[in-house]
Amino acid sequence: MNRFIYSPSYAVDIGAHVFPTAKFRLAAEAVASLGVLCEPQEPSRDDLLLAHDSAWVDKVLTSRMSLAEEMLMELPFTPAVSLAHRLQAAGTVLACRHALEAGVGLHVGGGSHHAFRDHGEGFCVLNDIAVGIMKMRSEGYIRNAAVIDLDVHQGNGTASILAGEPGIFTFSMHQDDLYPSVKPPSSLDVGLPAGTGDQDYLRILEENLPQVFAHQPELVVYQAGVDGWEKDLLGGLKLTAQGLRRRDAMVYEACRGRGVPVAVTLGGGYGAHIKETARLHAQTLTLFTGRGKEIS
Ligand SMILES: [Zn+2]
Repeated sequence: MNRFIYSPSYAVDIGAHVFPTAKFRLAAEAVASLGVLCEPQEPSRDDLLLAHDSAWVDKVLTSRMSLAEEMLMELPFTPAVSLAHRLQAAGTVLACRHALEAGVGLHVGGGSHHAFRDHGEGFCVLNDIAVGIMKMRSEGYIRNAAVIDLDVHQGNGTASILAGEPGIFTFSMHQDDLYPSVKPPSSLDVGLPAGTGDQDYLRILEENLPQVFAHQPELVVYQAGVDGWEKDLLGGLKLTAQGLRRRDAMVYEACRGRGVPVAVTLGGGYGAHIKETARLHAQTLTLFTGRGKEIS
């Protein structure tokens, strides 16, 4: 039975925003018939401290921060937004557990790769990817892990938090001339020119994935942002829906073919129509159930 990790609290009303959180609800509804939904519980403060400093965790827990910090996140920082992001951090921890138990963990959320140890940025508050990996490591389940981040934006927060962590390999393939302007180095960064289409994208991904596995990860966290889609409002790549499906299939085969557990997180996606964004996220989740076919 497939388990999809999701909480209704992920969908928070933040007014008119390029990042409408209802996409989480729509994606969850699209995959609900394929399995059961599992709700994450609040993470402990100690769990958040695995990837964040105490000053930032306290600001998130109390929902108190400066206007400058709020503007950097590009989110109105209400208690409901704080709760949504805390639960998503716990959701990715759960996805990592499911991955280690069953081979695949499916999170209908997460992928907040722009969150740094001491601040949030770009719609990201807490780095659920780093929290998930560090939690599995702190409990002794794994030593080596890898991040495969295929969001259109570089995974700056993840790269920064996990830099220097022995045994953790971060891979980000993204559009080069896009936010973030300053890109802290991942273990492997591949910057692509705007306009890159399916054929070149898939070839370059295929060339680079072996480097991730050469490092022998015992767990992969996949940031499966769909903002590389050709109609995305923020990205400038030219991936079709079919190209994104083939991208996901390549990651799925790379992990499953080597017996490496993989936890999937959604990441970015900013289509003009929220239903299209949710459909692309559902396509990713469906593929990782092993069904390999698209939701129409
Ligand atoms: Zn993005």
